[in-house]
Amino acid sequence: MKDSIDSANAPNIVGDASKANSFDAIVIGSGMSGGWAAKEFCEKGLKTLVLERGRNVEHIKDYPTATKESWELPHRGRLPLKIEQENPIVSKCYAFGEATEHFFVKDNEHPYVQVKPFDWIKGYQVGGKSLLWARMTQRWSEFDFESNAQDGHGVDWPIRYKDLAPWYSYVEKFIGVSGNRDGLYQIPDGEFLPPMELNCVEKHFQETVNKTFPGRNVVISRTTNLTQKHNGRGPCQYRSLCHRGCPFGGYFSSNSATLPAATATGNMTLRPFSVVHSIIYDEQKGRATGVRVIDSNTKEEMEFYAKVIFVNAGTLNTTLILLNSTSSRFPNGLGNDSGVLGHYLMDHNYRARAYGEYEGFEDMYYYGRKPGGWYLPRFRNLGKDKQDNFLRGYSFSGGASRRRGNVGENDEPLGAAFKEKLTEVGPWTMGVTGMGEHLPYFENHVRLSKDKKDQWGMPLLEIDSENKQNEENMVKDILQTASEMLEAAGFKNIKQTDSNQPLGLAIHEMGTARMGKDPKTSMLNGINQMHAVKNVFVSDGACMTSTACQNPSLTYMALTARAVDSAINELNKQNI
Ligand SMILES: Cc1cc2nc3c(=O)[nH]c(=O)nc-3n(C[C@H](O)[C@H](O)[C@H](O)COP(=O)(O)OP(=O)(O)OC[C@H]3O[C@@H](n4cnc5c(N)ncnc54)[C@H](O)[C@@H]3O)c2cc1C
Repeated sequence: MKDSIDSANAPNIVGDASKANSFDAIVIGSGMSGGWAAKEFCEKGLKTLVLERGRNVEHIKDYPTATKESWELPHRGRLPLKIEQENPIVSKCYAFGEATEHFFVKDNEHPYVQVKPFDWIKGYQVGGKSLLWARMTQRWSEFDFESNAQDGHGVDWPIRYKDLAPWYSYVEKFIGVSGNRDGLYQIPDGEFLPPMELNCVEKHFQETVNKTFPGRNVVISRTTNLTQKHNGRGPCQYRSLCHRGCPFGGYFSSNSATLPAATATGNMTLRPFSVVHSIIYDEQKGRATGVRVIDSNTKEEMEFYAKVIFVNAGTLNTTLILLNSTSSRFPNGLGNDSGVLGHYLMDHNYRARAYGEYEGFEDMYYYGRKPGGWYLPRFRNLGKDKQDNFLRGYSFSGGASRRRGNVGENDEPLGAAFKEKLTEVGPWTMGVTGMGEHLPYFENHVRLSKDKKDQWGMPLLEIDSENKQNEENMVKDILQTASEMLEAAGFKNIKQTDSNQPLGLAIHEMGTARMGKDPKTSMLNGINQMHAVKNVFVSDGACMTSTACQNPSLTYMALTARAVDSAINELNKQNI
């Protein structure tokens, strides 16, 4: 990225507000949501400083494994046991491997305190986790924004679907989402590029489920892989190597899309290696004036100033920064009059899976590697469906493929016959994974450690969260409905697994600085603006008031684009 400063060449920007370190807007974090804030501010003409704690990752240039074949990788893509043993947390992430490890934070690099188990998966670099995501994107629906008000868990959202719908469209048109217009109220249709196609076994599954179980609708997954050239990027080459970074720009990431758009305006200054320590609050002015930064390489401390500050450091880091921003006006964290900052941590309930094998379609195969399979949106506790033992619902995703090597569980893994079988194509198999809504609980929270600090002097985050009875009951139902659908579609050898994983590993961490109508029970208003500090906005996952059971990042992006628009309106009206 042309307009970036690295710490070795950083100008002398320590000191009082001056031209060298003053900007119109500061964006903290350059990942999925920060990239959007940067693009929107820059395109509207605001001089914007983007502060990113990690290194720079330039699109294409910094994707070292993107075109490597497995035999070009020292361990054929697998991680040596030593690395796995040294990194028990990040090793649990399916995408962490030899070809991608440079985009993940290793366990000992950024420690945190697990009061109860929590798998915190991190990607600290320009682009954040937008480089690593699985690209599944579904809109929320009207009732997702109403659930809290209806059953009383969590506070009411200050917005409704109609407030976000135009912003979903705005974002989708830019990022490119392939999908089918399915006409389902649970996942409203968006601005879609042509959909991919289900393979023969997925189609068979779709037909059976949609016919046998009214209310359940299997559709092709909606993904930000480009099925045609779009805004100068793509199309997807169906290599399914997305997590390495895509030199074709075949999927959406900050690096391939929003940050280049921001750079093109000439208004962005991107500063990698910049750990935001806290936000500076001016008690006289009653507003935030800037941020304190520690250069991650030199440990030099510096300050930057702006009229408006967007905090997009990723849910938990955003809240860490806010908790660390204390003053006599806000002794418990910036804007934390309500005491809810750090509370109501949520993550999707991603524990339950089922798997089956299909006898048939043996003469059929598929071409290319489709980066996504099918999706089944929520059907529980909707319409006529009423469950007694859990609230809300879950979605499913899955896909069918043919096993490479026709080796069964009972085959002796040795000898000529075994080798012969390895050259054959195995049976069709299908994996089905549930993604459940997680309720907001006050007790599930994060706080700052009183005595432990990281190497930059930032307090470590203590994470204290767990699944509760609603999530446990939902897991049982997910396993049962997954198996019954596989069985109805004729799958055999069906196996169920409950990974029993703690929160975190769904990598959809949400909440801890929630939106709400009432400043007494929430941090942010309906435009993601702090109730108590009007020129600070939070629009990453920290702002979420509930989780629904859709993948969340599309909603973060839409909220961010809308929040920047609102912030600029407020600036123009001189309200902030
Ligand atoms: C393997 C994987 C699969 C996923 N699949 C999906 C999916 O299919 N669909 C979906 O919707 N989501 C998915 N996600 C989640 C998705 O990646 C996140 O929701 C999204 O990236 C969050 O955006 P963000 O802007 O909040 O945070 P990030 O993208 O993580 O960006 C935050 C940035 O802030 C920086 N930062 C942190 N602290 C500081 C600080 N103190 N100072 C300065 N900078 C800081 C970080 O280095 C980072 O670059 C997946 C994630 C992973 C890892």
